[in-house]
This record gives sequence, C-alpha cells and structure tokens, in this order.
Amino acid sequence: MKIVQEQFGISTRSRSQMIDITSKVQSFVSDSGISNGDVIVYCPHTTAAVTINENADSSVQHDILLTLEELLPKYRPGYRHSEENSDAHCKSSLVGCSEQVLIKNRRLQLGTWQAIYFCEFDGPRSRNVIVQVRGQ
Ligand code: ZN
Repeated sequence: MKIVQEQFGISTRSRSQMIDITSKVQSFVSDSGISNGDVIVYCPHTTAAVTINENADSSVQHDILLTLEELLPKYRPGYRHSEENSDAHCKSSLVGCSEQVLIKNRRLQLGTWQAIYFCEFDGPRSRNVIVQVRGQ
C-alpha cells in the first residue's frame, strides 16, 4: 500500500462560508499514482470543518449555514471562552474535521450531487487542508 500526503491553503472571505474543494482533492488523487483506495480530507483547525453535501443548488450551502447559525448563535448567555468565537468551535465539532472518500480507477466515488466542502466558521482567514491518499 502506498500513502501520499499533501497540503494546500485556502483564503476564506467571510465569517461563515462553504468552499467546494472537490476539484482540488480530485487533482491530488489523480497525481498520487494511486488507482484504488481512499482519501482522507482533514481540516487542522478548531473553528472550521470539512463536509460532503449538495453540489448543484448553492441554496443548500446557504441553508446549512443558516441552520448552524440558528442552532449556535454567535452570542449566547453562558459562553465562557474569551475569544468570543465559541459558536465557531461548536460548529467545527458538530460538522467534524475530516471526511473519507473512496477512490476507484483514480476517481473519487462521490455521488452525482455530492461535493466536498471546506467550512469556515470564523473567517475571513488563511486556512490549510491536508489530503492523504492511500491505496495501490
Ligand atoms: Zn476560540
């Protein structure tokens, strides 16, 4: 089994944002020389996340962010964290910091309507994404 790890940067533009990184991940997979296996997309931040969801209608991304905003408002009685970004920490843990996608014949095995998104919850910032491809 072969393992290839890469990292790339993302500049986010608003406090909450979902950025489609599917083509970036697919190009790492294509360049890895690995035909069959899997890829882990990992976000090394405590106020951001990675998820897989709808790629066709951008209203879905809007509605996901709106729902998270309603569940976890920026200001709330009881928060103790002094950076005033507790909502972003909670969203990061709720959404999760990684996704795993299967690879077959050098292609991500995503469904027709699926894309991989980097989720910013405390931007704008410079962020990193780590991608590890493994297989043969
Ligand atoms: Zn914080």
